[in-house]
Amino acid sequence: MSAVEQLRAIVGQRHVLVGEEAAPYLTDWRRTRTGRALAVVRPANTAETAAVVKFCADNVVPIVPQGGNTGQVAGATPDDSARAIVLHTGRMNRIRDIDVVNDTMVVEAGCVLQEVQAAARAAGRLFPLSLGAEGSCFIGGNLATNAGGTQVLSYGNARELVLGLEVVLPNGEIWDGLRHLRKDNTGFSLRDLFVGSEGTLGVITAAVLRLHPLPRAEHTALLALDSIDSATQVFERARSRFHSALTAFEIMSDACLALVAETFPQLRSPIKPGPEASARCYVLLEVAEHDGADDMGDVFAEFCAHAWDDGLLQDAVIATSTAQQTELWTLRESITLALASAGYCVKHDISLPISAIPGFVRQNSDQLASKFPEARLMVFGHLGDGNLHYNVLLPDSADPARESLETSIQRCVHDHVVGLGGSISAEQGIGGKRTSDLEKYKSPVELRLMRDIKRALDPMGIMNPGKLFT
Ligand SMILES: Cc1cc2nc3c(=O)[nH]c(=O)nc-3n(C[C@H](O)[C@H](O)[C@H](O)COP(=O)(O)OP(=O)(O)OC[C@H]3O[C@@H](n4cnc5c(N)ncnc54)[C@H](O)[C@@H]3O)c2cc1C
Repeated sequence: MSAVEQLRAIVGQRHVLVGEEAAPYLTDWRRTRTGRALAVVRPANTAETAAVVKFCADNVVPIVPQGGNTGQVAGATPDDSARAIVLHTGRMNRIRDIDVVNDTMVVEAGCVLQEVQAAARAAGRLFPLSLGAEGSCFIGGNLATNAGGTQVLSYGNARELVLGLEVVLPNGEIWDGLRHLRKDNTGFSLRDLFVGSEGTLGVITAAVLRLHPLPRAEHTALLALDSIDSATQVFERARSRFHSALTAFEIMSDACLALVAETFPQLRSPIKPGPEASARCYVLLEVAEHDGADDMGDVFAEFCAHAWDDGLLQDAVIATSTAQQTELWTLRESITLALASAGYCVKHDISLPISAIPGFVRQNSDQLASKFPEARLMVFGHLGDGNLHYNVLLPDSADPARESLETSIQRCVHDHVVGLGGSISAEQGIGGKRTSDLEKYKSPVELRLMRDIKRALDPMGIMNPGKLFT
């Protein structure tokens, strides 16, 4: 029997896709890479996943795990050898259990994030992971990338939101680590090895997630400011005033919102960005109100009024309804989509100490403007986490020198970031696009430890080859 026939014997005829049926799974979200695969295999459950992985281990067939395929670094795209299978987790999409006493839920890897949030909400709880791709990304992908998103300030990254995992190991064995415990000091935290491993150590098939109380209300404002310096001052005040109730502090440059307005003219916006606007950047600020917090709406309005009186704001819009909150968030979440159709974007997902951000943006944007005058900077991100999506937009052209231009721009940004003690990947991961940067900037000791772990778990190197490591 051929490999495809043997895989069909495990998961069923209809769930091994080849040819045109496989094509939608072979290009990354940003359309930067298209690979080829032996087949796309869609197991229905953990046992079938284990049997598929065992078959691959026995026959040295590489495996590329794929969730919602919304990753920004081509981590779920195979190479062009046509040797690998894409293991798509979409059929493993059951919510196995919700325990409101323990504040946990058990979900399978192929659950769409938005469905996980909705199930938690229906049980009167909050699952706070939230990102622009939440209607398409899967919880398994979120854990494999240790996704961040817009609520990290208060609730942490995906890593902080998971208590236990079930993983199919590279030899086909199942590790049942579905623990519901908040305390468990019994040696190495294996769970933490798999979170953020980007499919290079095994296939996550299920997880125990940590739930939180549902806020009674959320208060949201869009603030207009003259500089990132003012934004960091407002952040410092907001954190001191609201502590853990401060759930989001998102920054967007004027150029980003102008691009959103140009790309999606149907979106309603209370501000008019663009060349005539006096504001240089905007902040989306959100605070959660829990039972016991009195008059949070008044406190929130007072906070904005004080920032205005002290000359930190140029304008402020406080949402007065859920519909207005949604409108403000839609502006923020449309930036990635607007950029995707705006030209060729050299993306950086950087993290810095918050205090270093204004100086970095000033100096680096001057450097980029003098070296690459045709480039336009599009900066937005999670300022409260010290995480900027620092995008450099180039005119869309098939210029053969574009690849080396991209490398020079990345070098200019990443050298500067690392020089300031920052990271070249805050939340999106390394995937297949940042492997040489990882090699360049990670210390030799860290790289060796990572390789040792990879070799120990996946001695044949069949899990997502070419990702994370060169
Ligand atoms: C509009 C938009 C906004 C975004 N905003 C954010 C944001 O704010 N914060 C953020 O962190 N990211 C963001 N992203 C990036 C992306 O949504 C996240 O990285 C997400 O966690 C990827 O999930 P996925 O299911 O799409 O994974 P995929 O893209 O399918 O895979 C990502 C990586 O995880 C591996 N993988 C997937 N599933 C498994 C599994 N079950 N077991 C083992 N490995 C697996 C893959 O091999 C690959 O390496 C955004 C993307 C878009 C398109």
